[in-house]
Amino acid sequence: NPATENLRAAMKKELPEEILSILKDISQAAADTGIPAFLVGGIVRDLFLNHPNDDIDIVVEGNGILFLEHLYQQFGGDIKTHEQFATGTWRHPSGQMIDVTSARLEYYSHPASLPDVEKSTLKEDLYRRDFTINSMALSLNNQYFGRLVDPFNGQNDLRRKRIKVLHNLSFIDDPTRILRAVRFEMRFNFQMDRQTETLVLHSIGRIKDLSRDRLNGQMKRLLNEGSPSKIILRLFELNFWKQLGINEHSQKKSVTHSEKLEDVYRQYEGLQAGWFIYFIIPFYHSDVLYTAKQYAVTKKSKKLIQDIYTLSDNTEWKSISNVGMMHSYLKDISEEAVLFIISSENVHNEKAIMTYLKRRKNMPSLLTGEDLIKQGLTPSPEFKKIIMNLDAAVLNEEIQTKDDALKWLKNNHGTDGL
Ligand code: ATP
Repeated sequence: NPATENLRAAMKKELPEEILSILKDISQAAADTGIPAFLVGGIVRDLFLNHPNDDIDIVVEGNGILFLEHLYQQFGGDIKTHEQFATGTWRHPSGQMIDVTSARLEYYSHPASLPDVEKSTLKEDLYRRDFTINSMALSLNNQYFGRLVDPFNGQNDLRRKRIKVLHNLSFIDDPTRILRAVRFEMRFNFQMDRQTETLVLHSIGRIKDLSRDRLNGQMKRLLNEGSPSKIILRLFELNFWKQLGINEHSQKKSVTHSEKLEDVYRQYEGLQAGWFIYFIIPFYHSDVLYTAKQYAVTKKSKKLIQDIYTLSDNTEWKSISNVGMMHSYLKDISEEAVLFIISSENVHNEKAIMTYLKRRKNMPSLLTGEDLIKQGLTPSPEFKKIIMNLDAAVLNEEIQTKDDALKWLKNNHGTDGL
């Protein structure tokens, strides 16, 4: 069988030796226990695409717990099992994690069922998956080792660069698949086929049924995957944003804004954009930023929204060119929020703002409250102001060392004789 040979060869060529050797162990366990085992999911897809992937997902046609226990007894490492779901994880002695799931619960009591029945069990498992390209399996069983099981012709869709669901109710069953589809489009530069896109448009309303955490989880994975501006545009095309209360007319502004923000981040070394800053762009341009608060889970994302409001309320900071002076307006504002605003509109002092942010990041704190006391000042609310003015002088590069700072203190706050 030439197909068998090809994949065996591809596995040898594409998979790291450690992974291949683990698959051989699993193959051995399948032979020992009589429980057929298959490699499934992303790693099979990525084998064809020559993408590295070391997520080993195994489906067994039989009792996954027994299978895991056998792996552990024969090859060591460690296992964690969830009896209830007949699934578990094997930590190989090398540290590599291997997920094992059982294809069908009914089979617990008959681990040695008939071969043709076994085949359909795997197929059923594959049928529950999201897209044809993710629904391929490789047999790890004896003489069939390396044989492709591809009941939905995922290989063909891989060649044609298509994201295609397995059945019409797929997105109704699980709306997160809509965002997964876009993610795979972006990652591989693939496209949904026409029918799949039509199904997305029909089921997009289900997005509203997702819990905040599921939506966040998927959005995070998606926005970390490709160019956020392309993703934002694609999600407008699919009427996704509308489900979150966003006006379709904000599309153009949102896309332009995210493009510029990507640019700004590219130029701005040492700062990685989080997904959330892109997520809120369409809300901002629909004047419903406050509704995005419900998706803000981390302190940082809550503050981002708060800071954007602060920057919009008082716009004086946009007309200051003195870097030190800017500090009194921006000292409590996160750099993300500032970058957000300056990439959404033309701000005349953009250069000074960028300088400010860069200097602020590396700003030493030269004097503490204690230093002020040592210099003879009495503790008071004034201290904050003094430190602020000192920071401003540091930001303007008038002061560099602690000695400079002490001199500055003498000159400006007359510590001598106080
Ligand atoms: P990645 O490289 O991002 O991990 P992946 O395809 O491995 O991509 P996972 O989220 O790790 O994605 O999922 C592993 C496999 O489980 C997928 O290949 C797919 O077959 C299946 N799967 C994951 N999520 C779903 C879902 N929501 N619906 C159906 N099948 C899913």
